[in-house]
Amino acid sequence: MKRITILGSTGSIGTQAIEICDKHGIEIAALAANSNVQLLAQQAKQHNVKTVCIYCEQKRSELEKLVDSDVTVLTGMDGLKQIASMDGVDIMLNSVVGMVGLVPTLTAIEHGTDIALANKETLVAGGKLVINSAKEKGVNIYPVDSEHSAIFQCLQGNKKQQLKGIILTASGGPFYKKTKKELEDVGVEQALAHPNWSMGRKITIDSATLMNKGLEFIEAIWLFDLKPEQIEIVVQRQSVVHSAVEFMDNSVIAQMGVPDMKIPIQYALLYPDRLDCPTKHLSLTDYGTLSFDKPDYDTFDCLTACIKAITIGGTKPAIVNGANEAAVAAFLDGKIKFLKIGELVTKALENIKETDITCVQDVLDADKAAREYVREQIEKGVN
Ligand code: MG
Repeated sequence: MKRITILGSTGSIGTQAIEICDKHGIEIAALAANSNVQLLAQQAKQHNVKTVCIYCEQKRSELEKLVDSDVTVLTGMDGLKQIASMDGVDIMLNSVVGMVGLVPTLTAIEHGTDIALANKETLVAGGKLVINSAKEKGVNIYPVDSEHSAIFQCLQGNKKQQLKGIILTASGGPFYKKTKKELEDVGVEQALAHPNWSMGRKITIDSATLMNKGLEFIEAIWLFDLKPEQIEIVVQRQSVVHSAVEFMDNSVIAQMGVPDMKIPIQYALLYPDRLDCPTKHLSLTDYGTLSFDKPDYDTFDCLTACIKAITIGGTKPAIVNGANEAAVAAFLDGKIKFLKIGELVTKALENIKETDITCVQDVLDADKAAREYVREQIEKGVN
């Protein structure tokens, strides 16, 4: 029986992962959540989990009251690190939101625990550190992001050195075909209305700005050891083709399925097995037509910023990611308009100098500088 720990257990990926664990008898050794103590306590009870962590330290006593007396309650980054370094764990699912996932990922790798990675910011900001240390420790990183799972699946049984490039698909989000003018006054509700995928708030906003695709572009470079020019982004409006790979002979292999995260989550947790999955069957004739289009790089400037950032390298990806996290939080708080997210990310990219990445502090410093820059810009009244 496999043993798993889940960081981000109360979120969209976490709750679906627990469903997969139940179905296939995977034992849950520990759970961590940001602030949802009610659900975390309920998950611990239901699944007989004896170690839990609530990231938000002020919620400790509330959680302690809700769980059984034999449950160890941890908090903060220390708690996440303790879970990441638990013994006897086969795989850690990291599905926390944002840069906060970086240190736990590195801790688990250091401990020799395989990782199912849904926390893309980890690879965007600290890709070099994560990949180098995973190689050194012989740790496997199984992608949970649907596109990267698709690429990973398409590569099975083929020679990586014969890969020519990848086709990274994008849904286009709720604002596909819209112009900047039309996006001037869109509100939070509209930005949160994704046409195909049901996800958390931060990633849904990232999908509306196409920042999500930019982050995935960078994530793919690290996961599959690619150069930027080897990645073509294609809008696949129905989210049925989850991405594809092209080999030297120009043969293209794609992975398809209904847009349901349970498929990539299960593949990461059960790899290399393919067992029954609690999701719908794909009927291509129900869809009838699948469409393919180029993304609009002018309107969706976050995407352009990410490609520039990884092309320059160093801490630039951490800078665009940090700026985006701060800008998205400000948008969700009603402090800035939708289009300002892209403007702030682009400005941070242009105005904050990158450094080389030699240790995790370089990444954390770049992240902090980007967030401060965005905060200052907003205070100056660029909303
Ligand atoms: Mg994705």
